[in-house]
Amino acid sequence: MPDVLVAGAGPTGLLAAYELERAGLDVLILERDVRPTTQSKALALQPRSVEVLADRGLLAAVEPYVEARLPAGHFSGIPIDYTDLPTPFPYQLGVEQAHVAAAIESRLRTPVLRGAAVTAVEQDAEGVTVTAGGRRHRAGWLVAADGGHSTVRTLLGAAFPGMSARISLVVADLTLAGKPAGLADDWQLPSTGSGFLLPLSGGRFRAIVGGEEQQRLGRDAPVTADELQRALTDAHGPEIKVGEVLWASRFGDAARQLERYRHGRVLFAGDAAHIHLPIGGQGLNLGLQDAVNLGWKLAAHIRGHAPEGLLDGYHDERHPIAARVLVSTRAQGVLGVPDPDAAAVRAVVTELLAVPEAHRAVALELSGIGIAYPGTTGRATDVPAAPDGRPVLVGASLPAGWAGRVETREGTKPQLVRPDGYVVWTGGSDLEAALHRWFGPPSAAEDTVSAAARGTG
Ligand SMILES: Cc1cc2nc3c(=O)[nH]c(=O)nc-3n(C[C@H](O)[C@H](O)[C@H](O)COP(=O)(O)OP(=O)(O)OC[C@H]3O[C@@H](n4cnc5c(N)ncnc54)[C@H](O)[C@@H]3O)c2cc1C
Repeated sequence: MPDVLVAGAGPTGLLAAYELERAGLDVLILERDVRPTTQSKALALQPRSVEVLADRGLLAAVEPYVEARLPAGHFSGIPIDYTDLPTPFPYQLGVEQAHVAAAIESRLRTPVLRGAAVTAVEQDAEGVTVTAGGRRHRAGWLVAADGGHSTVRTLLGAAFPGMSARISLVVADLTLAGKPAGLADDWQLPSTGSGFLLPLSGGRFRAIVGGEEQQRLGRDAPVTADELQRALTDAHGPEIKVGEVLWASRFGDAARQLERYRHGRVLFAGDAAHIHLPIGGQGLNLGLQDAVNLGWKLAAHIRGHAPEGLLDGYHDERHPIAARVLVSTRAQGVLGVPDPDAAAVRAVVTELLAVPEAHRAVALELSGIGIAYPGTTGRATDVPAAPDGRPVLVGASLPAGWAGRVETREGTKPQLVRPDGYVVWTGGSDLEAALHRWFGPPSAAEDTVSAAARGTG
């Protein structure tokens, strides 16, 4: 029996599984689709996500598919400079989401079980039983990373308050049989408004349209080449000719977030926990950070190493971050509305973002570089993660009783770093207190699966 089941092999579920496997647990991912998707909603990784992948040696597997290094992010299309961010990766990495997912999947010990759509979830004091693809699977815990339409969320009746979609847009990857002069040939910062076209590799283009016709059509109406042709002609003129539509989907500006990320033995992450307008490139970054925040906490809980409240700290740390992204993306959505009042607000915001302090604050937020959870001093850029997911102590001796639980390294700058890369001690006499606060009592059993894993913790 695996320690943890993961619903959904999107980037969030895959990275959560990777983190748990790294910590030595057995994980089974249950995925609805029969084969890995080639459809990439996200096309870019924020700097903090790049750091996380690099830290785990996953970036090398992504590199061959990188199409651009974008020295800026954007706030509703207003460029936000990343070049002086305090990170080895001061840029967005232009890479299709499917390649990021494939890179993580290639490093998993246990193959993803595909064609296994979750249809039922039961939990009791000892564990969870999940029906997927007609078979029942049992484990101690379930990570629900089954996306924005999360079945697990529905099955548990988890409160998902927020705002329904008011606008409707279409995303499509397509080829062009006719291309107007002046259309960019390389990656560009997205503009707002209908008719966005971004060249991808292999002669493909990413189109996003959201004109009057898209508002009229229902969310479930199939996207046709004719619809795309009309929208792109409106934006780019009669020379543009849609060739083949490779995939297309409708999306909107619904903004919702789970009230609680933990429901007993079920923990939600990624789009299953929060949805918002995909503007400013935030969703994938949120999901990946959820995964690395949850992974080590759940592993510690299962192993019996976790101090009181550590697992619930996943919700406490990550809920406010996504709540802030919902506010930011709603604000960005308003700035993109083709309306004179919105244009006036946009002009004012553009001026304000020219103030260096404001510009930097937004850069730190959008890039994920500025995140520092309570009790941490931010992330360590010079302390690579331990391969086995243990915390890392640099430049100090480990107090008695902690041997084996924490990886120690030489260094002149004392730091104690959580497995997700956040610094919880930077020198001084309180090392033991920091170890206790974050990594539990030293006497806890080292390699035995604890009572918590069996359901009594
Ligand atoms: C048009 C668009 C553009 C975007 N651009 C960006 C961007 O540039 N940058 C960015 O950061 N974010 C972007 N996003 C958001 C980003 O794509 C998502 O936040 C990201 O996909 C979330 O990953 P996830 O793993 O949580 O969910 P998903 O990627 O949705 O993965 C969920 C997985 O669960 C599976 N699943 C679903 N139901 C079940 C079930 N019942 N049982 C088992 N498996 C199931 C699905 O098949 C899927 O594999 C964009 C989104 C859209 C729509």
